[in-house]
Amino acid sequence: MRTAVITAAGQVETREIPVPDIGDSEVLVRIAACGICTMEANLYAGRMTVYPAAAGHEISGWVERIGAKAAALEDMPAVGSLVALDGLPRCGACRSCRRGQTAICVALQGHKREDGAITMGAGLAEYIALPASRVWSVGDTDPAVAAMGEPLACVVHSLRRGGFRAGDRVTVIGAGYMGHLHLAVAAHLQARGVAVVERDEQRLAAIAAAGAEATVTPEDIGQLPPADVVVVTIASKEAIAAALAAVADGGTIVLYGGGPGGPPAELPGYEVHRRQLTVTGSFSHEPDDWRAAAELLRGGRLAARLETLVTARYPLDEVEKALKQAAETPVYRVVVTP
Ligand SMILES: [Zn+2]
Ligand SMILES: [Zn+2]
Repeated sequence: MRTAVITAAGQVETREIPVPDIGDSEVLVRIAACGICTMEANLYAGRMTVYPAAAGHEISGWVERIGAKAAALEDMPAVGSLVALDGLPRCGACRSCRRGQTAICVALQGHKREDGAITMGAGLAEYIALPASRVWSVGDTDPAVAAMGEPLACVVHSLRRGGFRAGDRVTVIGAGYMGHLHLAVAAHLQARGVAVVERDEQRLAAIAAAGAEATVTPEDIGQLPPADVVVVTIASKEAIAAALAAVADGGTIVLYGGGPGGPPAELPGYEVHRRQLTVTGSFSHEPDDWRAAAELLRGGRLAARLETLVTARYPLDEVEKALKQAAETPVYRVVVTP
């Protein structure tokens, strides 16, 4: 099978390797689509330097073969059905995993494959073998949308970390891909309204068209009704200051986006105390988030919204173009379809 490997900054090669074998508790999936996330863009741009990397962790595909033990499980997707894949392994043994907080497992990175590539999702390929626990049935939908299972699980996790409940007002700082996903999920889960704060006028107009109740630039944040949950999808001091201005008394600020080495923000201790604010972080996802994300995808429930976020599709042979576009231009999601 073909697999793409990022070998250095700006370098990607397509290799031919054997289709992986599966164990009794594993599933072999023929990959249908793989989204290019920040991690892949950073690897290609040289902002992250783990080489050679078999990257691509936002994966969907069709079940090709199921190991005997996995096949005996209740609710296993049938051969031929479309699934969304959790491409990131968890160790199950570290302190966080033992506490049930698998999102912050210390051993997130993959293993060295036979061709020497380090697996970091390994979704930019034709096939993948994964434990049955990381394969989620999503019913019939656009495979590029099904490949949004992983980021959707991140967003479900983020709203859960924010203590979101139906009827809450939500404000999202940033109208990029993650801003759109937060809007889509919070609206679907009966938010009272979702407002978005963004500096870029074009992005602001796009997210207003996508159903945001109110859209403002940071200067006009005072016009928004106070929000029970504020999600910061951009890592900047300014964004965190905006969140403090947007949050209601007793509300929660979720620091979702976090570029490595982002500038430190000052935490106004008295304000957090007096207004009973909660400031929390959200990273990655846990199995319960995946359960919810798979349901959001099932049968194309959010497909009309999510399809508008597919910026471009490339075949695996043009993976370099896909990585270049994601790394160098503003996009929502670039998707590779083997
Ligand atoms: Zn991702
Ligand atoms: Zn762990």
